[in-house]
Amino acid sequence: MTFTPQNIRTRLALKYTGVFALLLFVYTIVTVLFLYFYFSNQLDLNLKEELEIVQELLHYSNYEIKSKTFEMQHEPKRFERLVEIWSDSILEYRSSAFNEQLIFPEPRSDHLSHQPHYLSLTLPTGEHWRMIYVAVPSEGRQRLVRISMNEDHILDQMKEYFLFMTIVAPLFFGIAALAGYIMAKQALAPIDRMVVHAKRIGTENLKERLPIVNPNDELGNLAIVTNELLDRIQNSFERLQRFTADASHELRTPLTAMRSVGEVGLQDSRPAEQYREVIGSMLEENARLTRLVDSLLLLSKADSGKVPLSIENVDLLQFIKESSEVITVLAEEKEQKLQIEGIDGIIVTIDKIIFRQALLNLIDNAIKYTSGGGIIVIRALNDEGKFATIEVSDNGPGIPKEDQEKIFDRFYRVDKDRSRETGGAGLGLAIVQWAVRIHHGSLSVESSPSGSTFRITIPQVV
Ligand code: ADP
Repeated sequence: MTFTPQNIRTRLALKYTGVFALLLFVYTIVTVLFLYFYFSNQLDLNLKEELEIVQELLHYSNYEIKSKTFEMQHEPKRFERLVEIWSDSILEYRSSAFNEQLIFPEPRSDHLSHQPHYLSLTLPTGEHWRMIYVAVPSEGRQRLVRISMNEDHILDQMKEYFLFMTIVAPLFFGIAALAGYIMAKQALAPIDRMVVHAKRIGTENLKERLPIVNPNDELGNLAIVTNELLDRIQNSFERLQRFTADASHELRTPLTAMRSVGEVGLQDSRPAEQYREVIGSMLEENARLTRLVDSLLLLSKADSGKVPLSIENVDLLQFIKESSEVITVLAEEKEQKLQIEGIDGIIVTIDKIIFRQALLNLIDNAIKYTSGGGIIVIRALNDEGKFATIEVSDNGPGIPKEDQEKIFDRFYRVDKDRSRETGGAGLGLAIVQWAVRIHHGSLSVESSPSGSTFRITIPQVV
């Protein structure tokens, strides 16, 4: 079973302590090794110095005097040293200060080297000694000088240090865990504040934002990004609220009209001709309602991305000609001229049904908002061979500058009363914009009091 604490603070503190423990362990081992090698090296240097002194004494002094003065001529050393002088396997001299029972192995014949050598010894008593030996020519013989020092104190010191570290380690771990916990708590404090604020944010106060303590650190960044997300949610929410309110309003208008017409028709008994008129105007309202519901349905599907696309390559000019046939009759009713211009061979990849609806919405608007006798021109243009442009121009009243950006918003109508008479709910251009967007194109408008031009640009098949 593994123990995983629930909160980040404790997890961080534990991890921090774990890393600290590992570092402390590595540090202790490295220190012990370093000290061991350092002291061992010092010991070897001391032995070497001792050896040089003894060599000089052997060289320049009478050996009889030497044997008495050895102990005195040396400064008391930090570590005890034992000097032995062997001649032909006979021990000639041994430092007097040492216990006679301290027995070192007798020298071997291969120890008679003129280069100093070191040797580590473990005596039967369990003591550890370090020895330096060298052969010195003296009085026509080869004498072997051996100097030894006890190295147990080094090992003892290492053991003491290790013991000390083992005893203080739990204290260090405790301090590390506490420090880790406090640091993690301080570092994560802004999150606690964010949580408190975030809990308060709901649909009724979507304007509230998370506090940003330091915009330059990670948590500040998190708060900024979350606030931006809340901005987007608030915008979508408000748009949805507006949309629902506008849609209800638009739906209520034809329903109210139908009810009033029906009530008036029922008030008195009337000739059949008048009933027919009542039914006719109710059907007209019904048609308006159906169009509105169809548009709302399409836009809600568009919002959820659920409209399946069936794309194919088409010749743009041919497509415009075919599509506009159905609407020519509306232009003729208003004695308007519908003119199609452009060149063949501009191939675009489109969903014909969706793109036709976008094109018809633009032409329908041009017919609706241009007075009788106007001219409506639809052009298929080749834009540098990369893009195809479709322009729908009219010589109607145009759109005021301040409204030109808003006309693409849902339910936006420049002149509400005028549009209502002509049957628009302000959704036509929103549908065009969506249709253009899913074809990776762009939609723009140019308008003046002498007419408007709507321009769709989509990629061309090269
Ligand atoms: P509607 O269904 O009301 O036509 P649209 O989204 O198609 O809705 O258009 C939005 C508004 O833009 C219209 O109400 C109208 O005021 C204005 N508009 C659109 N096309 C034209 C045009 N060709 N000439 C003048 N005004 C236009």
